[in-house]
Amino acid sequence: MKMKFQTPDRRAFAIFAPLALPVLVLVPALYFGAHRTPGVEQPALTPAASAMKVTGATFTDQDFARHVEQLKKKMRGRGFTVVVQRPFVVVGDGTPAAVRTQSETVRWAVDKLKQDFFTKDPAAILDVWLFKDEASYRRNARLLFNDDPDTPYGYYSPAHKALVMNISTGGGTLVHEIVHPFVEANFPEAPPWLNEGLGSLYEQSGERDGHIYGYTNWRLPGLQEAIKDGSVPPFKALTEMDANAFYNEDKGTNYGQARYLLYYLQEHDLLVRFYKEFYDRRKMIRAATRPYKRF
Ligand SMILES: [Zn+2]
Repeated sequence: MKMKFQTPDRRAFAIFAPLALPVLVLVPALYFGAHRTPGVEQPALTPAASAMKVTGATFTDQDFARHVEQLKKKMRGRGFTVVVQRPFVVVGDGTPAAVRTQSETVRWAVDKLKQDFFTKDPAAILDVWLFKDEASYRRNARLLFNDDPDTPYGYYSPAHKALVMNISTGGGTLVHEIVHPFVEANFPEAPPWLNEGLGSLYEQSGERDGHIYGYTNWRLPGLQEAIKDGSVPPFKALTEMDANAFYNEDKGTNYGQARYLLYYLQEHDLLVRFYKEFYDRRKMIRAATRPYKRF
């Protein structure tokens, strides 16, 4: 199924043209250079993509049936529709038809992300909560998870094994958030710029040549302004940020900068290769840095 989230806009690309460096090699080199463990030899970049094994959590039909039963019991009489969309269970309070249509977005994103990036499913059955409007989103986030969301769009809560979405804002954030449990399952050492860059890249996405493709989006004008102001950190700084620096010390450009770095790789047909080669070198990250846990 071809799906597109929000409106494509192609103006952007020119701003990154001067970056025509061998980014593929440079970015991991910067990151690992900064986080190198003394005495640990730096492996060479291999031209061939890694052999990522197809493994991961496998839940049986019975596991899903049991999970759905519990959800239905918990939400009885509250007008929720439950749809199994492996490896997730989608739960929504829109009309049953709307929830089924929205669950197709989940299916599409899962299929397309696994096609290019991920082999393992999340380690637990995760619920994708699709609340029909902001009032429902905020009320239910509080009621079900005791959360007071700091975003009107949606978020991933590993603690509650849940993606919590205000689906009235569109499917873009849903695709963004779906990226995170897959990064968590497949590449837990991924630095925050890569995790959020991928999520952000696909928050406005469709298909090209049968593969998921990120379009330029609303994060671009702000980033361009910040580039003009000279307030965007160098890529070296971005790619060295730990979770605290990336999330808590963000001047407002980290997500956009990470997104458009990956967009640049995508436009040069290097993104999937870059991801796989970065993944191949993950042991270097594990050895050298504290874990990245925040989403
Ligand atoms: Zn995110």
